Amino acid sequence: MKIVLATSNKDKVKEIKAFYKDYEIYALSEICEPFEIEENGSSFQENALIKARAVYKKLKELGLDDEFISLSDDSGISVEALNFAPGIYSARYSGAGATDASNRVKLKAELNALGLKNSKAFYTACIAIASKYGEFSAHGFMHGTAIDEERGENGFGYDFMFIPNGYDKTVGQLDESVKLAISHRSRGLELARYILKSLEKRYKTSK
Ligand code: IMP
Repeated sequence: MKIVLATSNKDKVKEIKAFYKDYEIYALSEICEPFEIEENGSSFQENALIKARAVYKKLKELGLDDEFISLSDDSGISVEALNFAPGIYSARYSGAGATDASNRVKLKAELNALGLKNSKAFYTACIAIASKYGEFSAHGFMHGTAIDEERGENGFGYDFMFIPNGYDKTVGQLDESVKLAISHRSRGLELARYILKSLEKRYKTSK
């Protein structure tokens, strides 16, 4: 059983490959030409399943579904003072043509508009899997504080503005190994290991 990642986000691919060292993992671009997937769900889980399902459909079309499963990640940050925004809209927070940088500018502006320099916040990641034996998902979370300035260079997205509980540095300032140990993504992937283990058995016995 091999895994194709249903994402074209290079940072996510890097983190997932680093966490699942014991699995044979392929980026979508290694299997086919990456294609647009409309994420019109109303939760992290719905969007994660939409992505995993779309890539699994492609695997079927390519006749690779006996060998490959697809695995996706839908994730984002929820800021308490902002009524838990941007949540599932994290990638599109600053509107059409949003980039990670413009989204961080928007987050700072929204906090400052309320007279705040920080707020409690948390990251969510939903990991979804689509396979010959059905669809599955698992959630992971990382709690902490969103701040109104950028510190550090590691990670991506909102990492430079997020201090995990128990630390006094942003994820951007912490070593990448720390993020890999405590992140929402890693926690979701850890739970998804149970799904992968049972799928692996079924793929092996069906041969
Ligand atoms: P998605 O690709 O639709 O799941 O959008 C995820 C968005 O949430 C990204 O564009 C980032 O802005 C943010 N995000 C998700 N996970 C992380 C993370 O681990 N660090 C920083 N930002 C993240």
